[in-house]
Amino acid sequence: MALTKTTKEIDAMRRGGALLSRALKAAVDAVAPGVKLSELDAIAESVIRDGGAEPSFKGYKGSPDDTPFPSTVCISVNEEIVHGLGNRDRVLQEGDIVGLDIGLWLEGLCTDMAVTVPVGEVKPELIELMRVTRESLMKGVEAAKVGDAIKDISRAIEGHIKPHGYGIVRALVGHGVGHQVHEAPHVPNFVSPRYPHIEIQEGMCLALEPMVSLSGGHKVDTAADGWSIVLADGSPGAHFEVTIAITKEGGAEILTPLPV
Ligand code: MG
Repeated sequence: MALTKTTKEIDAMRRGGALLSRALKAAVDAVAPGVKLSELDAIAESVIRDGGAEPSFKGYKGSPDDTPFPSTVCISVNEEIVHGLGNRDRVLQEGDIVGLDIGLWLEGLCTDMAVTVPVGEVKPELIELMRVTRESLMKGVEAAKVGDAIKDISRAIEGHIKPHGYGIVRALVGHGVGHQVHEAPHVPNFVSPRYPHIEIQEGMCLALEPMVSLSGGHKVDTAADGWSIVLADGSPGAHFEVTIAITKEGGAEILTPLPV
């Protein structure tokens, strides 16, 4: 499979990304103590469908037993780092942090993005965790340049997180996106010789997505529901994600502007 997209395809992803950003904003605006996860999911899904698109996670088969994912948004609370089920009646509590990860199909192309936000008043250490994780994502975006390598993105993200003593999840990584929900190449949030050297090319579309723990731990477990990925030591975690396209100017354009 080609690692790059045409200008026409990137145009479609830009339209999809703008709609996705609106859907995520609508859900984020509804985050508050007392709100059910399933209410946030319904809000985002209606914005996507009203915009003429389809959710890309709902119905996605990525689990070992091929069970379709049940919701539009992956909603992950506190120690849940990613892939939390958005159709739960779990109620948000003051002091939680909640990650909302969302994807859509529009005109045959998909885009993917996520933010982590506070629920009411949260501890300052959690605000700092979210701030640094988001900054690390932007460092990765700045490092995505034609002629450099995927590992330069990895190094930029890791280099911003490490001095804070936080942990970087290693079992899950960023990825190519567009023709499929997840496609090549892997975009790890850390430098590792286990990943091949891949040069960044014009037309690549990548989902960068640092997943960061407050505790410094990096190990994860799968929850009993078979989907939610939780930090094994119970630490809270933050996750931010954008879809970028590598442009002919040689840098990265964010196709999914962060709404908050
Ligand atoms: Mg992703």
